[in-house]
Amino acid sequence: MNPPADPLTANAPAGATLATRFRQEFDDAPDGIWQAPGRVNLIGEHTDYNEGFVLPFAIDRTARVAVRVRPDSSVRLLSTYGDQGVVSSSLDNLEPGSAKGWTKYPLGVMWALKQRGVDVPGVDLLLDSNVPLGAGLSSSHAIECAVISAINDLTGAGLQPQEMVLATQRAENDFVGAPTGIMDQSASLRGSEGHAVFLDCRDQNVRLVPFETQPAGLVMLVIDTKVSHSHADGGYASRRASCELGAEVLGVKALRDVQVADLAEANGLLDVVTFRRVRHVVTENARVLQTVELLAGAGPAAIGSLLDASHASMRDDFEISCPELDLAVDTARASGAIGARMTGGGFGGAAIALTPASAEQSVRDAVATAFADARYKVPDIFTVSPAAGARRIA
Ligand code: ADP
Ligand code: MG
Repeated sequence: MNPPADPLTANAPAGATLATRFRQEFDDAPDGIWQAPGRVNLIGEHTDYNEGFVLPFAIDRTARVAVRVRPDSSVRLLSTYGDQGVVSSSLDNLEPGSAKGWTKYPLGVMWALKQRGVDVPGVDLLLDSNVPLGAGLSSSHAIECAVISAINDLTGAGLQPQEMVLATQRAENDFVGAPTGIMDQSASLRGSEGHAVFLDCRDQNVRLVPFETQPAGLVMLVIDTKVSHSHADGGYASRRASCELGAEVLGVKALRDVQVADLAEANGLLDVVTFRRVRHVVTENARVLQTVELLAGAGPAAIGSLLDASHASMRDDFEISCPELDLAVDTARASGAIGARMTGGGFGGAAIALTPASAEQSVRDAVATAFADARYKVPDIFTVSPAAGARRIA
């Protein structure tokens, strides 16, 4: 299901192969090539819609788009992944629901920019991405952020990163129809090599926090369980509802305003389940702040226990883990990882395991064996490192 690693650009000077392919498809050279990364959330899960803190980082897997402005309002789109061929559309009748398949991501960005008054031109666009699809690494935002960077540059619209974050959110929410927040595109647009992106979801402020795995002798393993449980959508909605109920009963605007020290009192005011949901969010916010502090001081080797505690909280209090994620996390820990947690919305998707480089192979082997023994799907295991955000590469 995953696209092969960087199929067009492996061993090639940046973008050159993509430009050649573009010329073959569209009979002319692209005006430029832009890339934007996927992301991994290091810590801070289900805190975003509670106006809390998240700490994602941009990864070394990117979507690249080669783009050429057209003299009319037509849009021609081609991805190196899948077999849809060139999809033609027009900017004149773009509206939510009008696009199908992967083209809703680039077209959604163009629609959102038009809504903002940007004079979006017709384009020919070739996409090549090595962000795995649907693994919780935000392959969709990687596309959107590459496209918005391209159009921002090509039109001279001069949008600031924060404006691009909001435009891509509009594209996802109103055009694609996915109720996502601002974390993924903030990481993709504002990420920086060797850093995590500390994002306050209340005021949308971003601060880059040093996060380098290699100098600390560590690798970040992603274990994609390849499972997606059918109750994911309902589970997400019900968790959100619990958080809203908790905030209402506790008399705060959002759970962001509840501190760990308030939990004892909250326990007396909330029903058992709502209390556990609230406790996850409140303690998770505290863990993000502690992680930021540790990364700025002792470094990544010190955050393992916070990753573990985050997973336990999601498993026991927020109840969004699943047997495959628990097995990935437990096995990684038992075979040498210094910390591990599920990442993303839950009920499937991927786990991350911060692992000494010397233990990488034993973690890989142990997880593969444990999944085979449990007769689970073969997991996809790979490393990611904190990489640069969206930019023009040619
Ligand atoms: P995630 O963003 O977590 O990877 P989503 O379901 O939000 O998962 O986005 C996955 C979708 O993005 C795919 O179904 C596909 O439509 C689109 N997509 C991602 N990468 C590519 C690609 N290289 N080519 C075409 N479409 C892609
Ligand atoms: Mg997505």
